[in-house]
Amino acid sequence: MRLLLLGAPGSGKGTIAKMLVKEYGAVQISTGDILRSAVSAGTAIGKQAETYMKKGDLVPDEVILGIMEERLKEADCAAGFVLDGFPRTIPQAEALKAMLGRLGISLQAACNLDVSEEVIIRRITGRRTCVNPQCQAIYNLEGRAPKKDGVCDKCGSALAQRDDEKEDVVRNRLSTYGAKTAPLIGFYESEGLLMTVSGDESKLLFEEILRRLKG
Ligand code: AMP
Repeated sequence: MRLLLLGAPGSGKGTIAKMLVKEYGAVQISTGDILRSAVSAGTAIGKQAETYMKKGDLVPDEVILGIMEERLKEADCAAGFVLDGFPRTIPQAEALKAMLGRLGISLQAACNLDVSEEVIIRRITGRRTCVNPQCQAIYNLEGRAPKKDGVCDKCGSALAQRDDEKEDVVRNRLSTYGAKTAPLIGFYESEGLLMTVSGDESKLLFEEILRRLKG
């Protein structure tokens, strides 16, 4: 499987990527997760990325492309990959095409998750993450709430709302998505790779993707 997931923040890319990886034995590559680890570790890339991430702005293309160029060369990608959160701009999509061309790999599909904005805002602002760096379990106040308010079921640490999950930042992330990332839908349509699935439940979207990939 060599797939990329397009969709607004909160459309369920991470959740669906995990389901696909489990089904197909591929690796999930999430630029958001890579950047968050770099921020926690205090690396040079993390320091560069942090200011953009806190505001809900995109990290500059050069930083992301440097990360992805290295990541796609790693051995585990040979079993296939699901890209989650990359590319997010037309220059990133063009660069990905060139990178994959150099590696002799072709994409199977760009899967666009079409989820309503109302669901997205509720989902992101209700998300709470375990502050323990070794755990980082994710909950949602609607649907997947912790047993005890504000406490992680798995390790007992506190739960917190990420800075970029607060409502004003979420609104900025959504407008950035509309301006910079939504044009990728047209890009992949003209590449003949676009697959759009619509709905508000990740499980149903996942089943629809499987049906279309297998069909
Ligand atoms: P995510 O978890 O995918 O929503 O990413 C969290 C944040 O990381 C985004 O709001 C951006 O600031 C940054 N980020 C992640 N992936 C990219 C990317 N491909 N290009 C630019 N910035 C990114």
